Amino acid sequence: MVRVRYAPSPTGALHIGGARTALFNFLFARHHGGAFVLRIEDTDQSRQVPESEAKMLAGLKSLGIVWDEGPDIEGAPYGPYRVSERLGRHRELAEALLASGQAYRCFCTPEQLEADREALRQQGLPPRYVGRCRDLSPEESERRRARGDRFVVRLKTPDTGETVVHDLIRGEVAFDNRVFDDFVIMKADFTPVYNFAVAIDDHDMAISHVIRGEEHLSNTPKQIFVYQALHFPLPAFAHLPMILAPDRSKISKRHGATAVEEYQAQGIILRALTNYLLLLGWSSPDGREILDLEDAIQSFTLDRVQRTAAIYDIKKLEWMNHQYMVQLPVEDIVALVQPFLTYPVREAPPLSEVVALCRERATTLVQLADQIRVFYHPPESYEAAGVAKHFGEEAASRLEALAARLAQLEPWDHDHLAALYDALSAELGVKRAALIHPTRLAVTGRTVGPGLFELVALLGREATVERLNTAVQRIRSQALLVE
Ligand code: GLU
Repeated sequence: MVRVRYAPSPTGALHIGGARTALFNFLFARHHGGAFVLRIEDTDQSRQVPESEAKMLAGLKSLGIVWDEGPDIEGAPYGPYRVSERLGRHRELAEALLASGQAYRCFCTPEQLEADREALRQQGLPPRYVGRCRDLSPEESERRRARGDRFVVRLKTPDTGETVVHDLIRGEVAFDNRVFDDFVIMKADFTPVYNFAVAIDDHDMAISHVIRGEEHLSNTPKQIFVYQALHFPLPAFAHLPMILAPDRSKISKRHGATAVEEYQAQGIILRALTNYLLLLGWSSPDGREILDLEDAIQSFTLDRVQRTAAIYDIKKLEWMNHQYMVQLPVEDIVALVQPFLTYPVREAPPLSEVVALCRERATTLVQLADQIRVFYHPPESYEAAGVAKHFGEEAASRLEALAARLAQLEPWDHDHLAALYDALSAELGVKRAALIHPTRLAVTGRTVGPGLFELVALLGREATVERLNTAVQRIRSQALLVE
């Protein structure tokens, strides 16, 4: 039975790296008919951010990622699903390792440890724990514990040989055991460190595949030592490639948003974001890039995860978003854009028609909302570059002539509008563009937008004529607000 988990530490918002890991685990579980577990790794209380857990859960759900077991799923069989509630088990196993001699108490003070590390550095050796307390006799160890000396618990790790991680994505990755010292498994407050707790929890939750980011690959040998010491069978491991910026640096704020809620606020359609995350290190067998979750579940296998770093490219995300913008049913886009309509919208023109007209030219829902606005609110100001170009000397009289003709036009539709502009431009001896550009600026305040005749046809006669007349007055009285 395939059982996988996503184990976030609640230290902030849900970022793309974590969301990608969660998505791949979710898809892997669904593809294989297995279970997807959400475990909250709140081991380090000092790094926790309030509300982070709730935000992460909401973020995952908003991406369409759902779990079979987790802290919010009642009656799930392997609970509790918060690591802070599993400490009894970690303590019990630490005691067992102490009793069997595979782990030992270390009473070294921080000063002592630092002095030892410094001595190694002086000799040109990598700083590590020198094993000072490794051979304390059980009696001595017990005597010092009873006396109340502070201690941590360290695991005895092998000094020779190598530990090989059989990674489903990266192949065999060998680690020289000499690089690992006897690392701490229980801190002085007798709480576990991540590498100890994670191995126990993964075992106890019957996790079959540990799928996580590559930054954890170097932790895996330590976790394998824990499995071995406790005689637990190993799960399979799969480490997902790093996500880097286009310049191959670590991604950060300056490369754009990285938290799921920020993308949402910027008007990225979450289904598009999920699709984009899917391509961060995975590709579909038939090369398709637009896949919904059902498609992704169908075709997701780990052998199509690449080893090389995935490049996080905001341009590609915007492209993806645009694909969703134009391919989803209009009603879906109408619903998605609602939260971004920060102004009143009237019955006419119908929002669905406005969306259908504008979506081709919008990359995000924020941009779409901005374009929709002109259909319900006349411009208060006009783009400066447009004013310089299109509201010259002749503009007021041309717009006035247009307004007069448009007031009479029957029927009010695209083709008749086009014919009217043709006729008037011939009469005035000007190019059609000399009428179209000023009209667009007068009606929308902008220099770009959907095709003018479609726009005006939808906007309606009354609003169009009124906006033209307003622009004429403003031009004549030099009362144009320019932006
Ligand atoms: N809590 C770890 C993290 O957030 C999880 C590591 C793991 O999946 O083992 O990175």
